[in-house]
Amino acid sequence: MMTETRAATILQILLGTTAVPKLVKSKKDPFETLVVTIISQNTADRNTARAFENLSKQFEITPEVLANAEISRIEACLRVGGLYKSKAKTIQTASKIILEKFHGSLAPVLSLPLDEARKMLTELPGVGPKTADVVLLFSANQPTIPVDTHVNRVAKRLGLAPANGIYEAVRLSLQSLFQPKDYLAVHLLLIAHGRKYCKARRPHCIECPVNNYCPSNDLGGKHD
Ligand code: SF4
Repeated sequence: MMTETRAATILQILLGTTAVPKLVKSKKDPFETLVVTIISQNTADRNTARAFENLSKQFEITPEVLANAEISRIEACLRVGGLYKSKAKTIQTASKIILEKFHGSLAPVLSLPLDEARKMLTELPGVGPKTADVVLLFSANQPTIPVDTHVNRVAKRLGLAPANGIYEAVRLSLQSLFQPKDYLAVHLLLIAHGRKYCKARRPHCIECPVNNYCPSNDLGGKHD
């Protein structure tokens, strides 16, 4: 079966069998998305949500407010997650830059062509390719697929990305196999699938709904 056909089949099966995570359901404001994504780096979802909730209770989530907030108060809000001091500093520095360089709004950046927008976003502190892609996909509907650890692992096991591919190779491979209208679904479904079945250690290949289409399926459960 051609990889494109297999990819389409996998998407259809996952759409019919996989619940999409609630975590990302409505973070549309680009600055909020940016802040949440910075908080989420190396942090469990539950703690990310708690830290962001703490921050939202204390501050209006705008570059102006966070640029001028006392750093110790931002730190206190983020303390439930990892690396809270450095993240507080990153958020405040990014806020100042957005305020000074972009007049407090990411909207003009997000409306640039994708590559240009990615380049400008990744010049902000704490913003690597994945964070930039999350902001661009979720808040600007730009045609990109952020590759987090789950997307990377599942895409490679499913043979939808080169086995040794780095971030860009995985992103571009996935984007070539799916239509832009499906990029958000692909991102969310691969994460959900990675969490439920295609775990880093001991994937549940026997129960996996796409095991018939997976070149890495190991129904003997021998994955390490
Ligand atoms: S068959 Fe196994 S390795 Fe392949 S996607 Fe499913 S859980 Fe992952």
